[in-house]
Amino acid sequence: MEKITARRLTRDNFDWVTGIFIIGYHLLLLILLPIYFIHHSPPTSMLVLSGVLLFFTGISVTGGYHRLYSHSAYKTNPIIEAIFLFFGTMSTQGSALRWSYEHRIHHAFVDKDNDPYCIKKGFWYAHLFWLFFKGNEIDKKVVADLYRNKLVMFQHKYYGLLMVITNLIPAVLIGYFYNDYLSAFLFAWGVRLFFSHHFTWFINSLAHYWGTQTFSQEHTAVDNYIISLVTWGEGYHNYHHTFANDYRNGIKWYHFDPTKWLIWGLHKLGLAHNLRRMSSDRIARQMILERKNELLERMNLRFQSHKHSLEEQINKVADHLIEKLAEFQKLIEQKKSLKKEPSMSETFYDDTKKKIDEMKRDLKTAWKEWKQLSKTILETKTLETT
Ligand SMILES: [Zn+2]
Ligand SMILES: [Zn+2]
Repeated sequence: MEKITARRLTRDNFDWVTGIFIIGYHLLLLILLPIYFIHHSPPTSMLVLSGVLLFFTGISVTGGYHRLYSHSAYKTNPIIEAIFLFFGTMSTQGSALRWSYEHRIHHAFVDKDNDPYCIKKGFWYAHLFWLFFKGNEIDKKVVADLYRNKLVMFQHKYYGLLMVITNLIPAVLIGYFYNDYLSAFLFAWGVRLFFSHHFTWFINSLAHYWGTQTFSQEHTAVDNYIISLVTWGEGYHNYHHTFANDYRNGIKWYHFDPTKWLIWGLHKLGLAHNLRRMSSDRIARQMILERKNELLERMNLRFQSHKHSLEEQINKVADHLIEKLAEFQKLIEQKKSLKKEPSMSETFYDDTKKKIDEMKRDLKTAWKEWKQLSKTILETKTLETT
């Protein structure tokens, strides 16, 4: 990966408040935690409560700040928004307006110099050091929709005060309940904040660094199941950067994406609507085109002879598969619209269903052929000369 030189941190561009806060609480934890554990055993039930808080703050960032505000992947009502904003404020990651502004710039200029957390400036820059630089002024045009949102603007205006209050409330309440303010401060605030921050920061660092690129190699974003486990489903970042407005990041039912499940659950309860999702034929088409590019690249590197005929075969098999997918999608849509049509002829409907079954078989064969060809090319390790 070619590098882009990061700006030099100077006295003028250093964000003193953020920088001192981040360094300060890390140092505080580093000093206080060992001393604490010399004198105390782990406060199990308080740790569980802190874990619950961690979950609420984390999912409010992914479900609220990210998928709702940054990408408008769905819509919800003001009560759910207020809950997201409450816990989002507690997560201490800036206001939803600033967060979304920076994130939209990240998507628009990913891997370029003006990407706020550009991975090409180094892993630690993308993870954390970018936060030490003063942020650019928010360009109203980029987040015009959020400027019209009263709740978002209220949170932005009073962010500093709200951040202190939302963090004090759980620490004081838990401290009062257990009659142990020190443990509450350490775990419900400090340790919870540490994990909440680093889990989110992993999306900017690890999710652009360690994983697979199934949907696009145009950007550095990768898919990684392990990252998803600690980022509430945001580890399918290659998919996300390819189809950013989809409310899902993990598209298969078994992909660990609790944020997607939460949005889907809210939708089922009538609390979320206009869920945006990319159609499966568009996703499959993108995967085939990406794989086709990879195969053509490999072929150029590894195959000396019959290059031309192989290239022709790759294009032919891929195009055939894409064509079949489009035909299949067309038939599915035809069936859907026929179902809604009151004057629909039964025979025509049955005919369409029959065609869909036939198409499924064709599609299966085309996929098989494509997979076989991919396997052969990808598994050829040595230089083919004959
Ligand atoms: Zn990203
Ligand atoms: Zn995003």
